[in-house]
Amino acid sequence: MRISDDRYSRDRLRLDIAMHFIRYEARTHTTRQWTGLTDDRIRKLYRAYLQDGGRRVPRHRGKSPRQSAFFMRTSRLRQEAAALASICCLLGLLDGGRETRPAAGVARAAALCQAYETYRSLVSMPAISFEHAVLLVETLARGQELRCGGCPDCGVLLVTDPYALRPARCVRCSDTEAADCAAPARHRSRAAQLAGSGHP
Ligand SMILES: [Zn+2]
Repeated sequence: MRISDDRYSRDRLRLDIAMHFIRYEARTHTTRQWTGLTDDRIRKLYRAYLQDGGRRVPRHRGKSPRQSAFFMRTSRLRQEAAALASICCLLGLLDGGRETRPAAGVARAAALCQAYETYRSLVSMPAISFEHAVLLVETLARGQELRCGGCPDCGVLLVTDPYALRPARCVRCSDTEAADCAAPARHRSRAAQLAGSGHP
């Protein structure tokens, strides 16, 4: 009895998670990979969702995004990737360098949905789609193209490129560094102005 109860709860959870994936516009193969449901079951679920008055969500076809360099493209993407990675570490999706065992199976898919929902609630206009969030988690879990690291100045979690020539800093520390570099130049220019004003 208990075994069948457990199995029922697991199946229920799997379907709930698949519905989240559908709402987040995940591709069918991504939903299959993370929930273990068949393509046919996912399609039926999508149809049932529409019949229940669900919002028509675009069905993306073709390959999922695969370029991890996407997360390094702009400072906004770097910041949002770091925020999402931090949430994933807190929810046990990534070990964040602590060498703990990350969540697996359907619990991992549930944690991914929770992480993405939290990220969306923190960012007014998310730059990272759900499919890109999947790519980020998978890339960070492999730890080759991108890794979780700390800002060398303040220690805040960052997504870093292990092949970058300079150590990555968080936006705040980069701005502080840039301001410190600019300050002497400003002083010099002000001093030049003052010096100039003394000699009409
Ligand atoms: Zn910092």
